[in-house]
Amino acid sequence: MRQHGKLEYGGLAVPQRTCVGCRVRTVKSELLRLVLVEDHIVPDLRGRLPGRGASLHPDLSCLELAERRRAFPRAFRVPGPLDVSRVRAHLEEENHEMSCRTPS
Ligand SMILES: [Zn+2]
Repeated sequence: MRQHGKLEYGGLAVPQRTCVGCRVRTVKSELLRLVLVEDHIVPDLRGRLPGRGASLHPDLSCLELAERRRAFPRAFRVPGPLDVSRVRAHLEEENHEMSCRTPS
């Protein structure tokens, strides 16, 4: 399926984001949006949560990179430290269910 003009790579219509872990810039749809809820970073699975977001590859190594360089407090503009356990749990679950995903 192709939508006229909207999904062309290199065009202006594709929103791009930078992964806060590896700093690679890619199309938004390949990244997991994270939002801050109090001191917890949570995955915004439907892309609907309000507030400042950060983008991350759905990959544990990117999460670890982001933590190591303290990218999250910077991305969310808070002093930190921030709890990433929910993001980690989500990514671990994703990795387990990579091949057969069951909707809950
Ligand atoms: Zn990344």
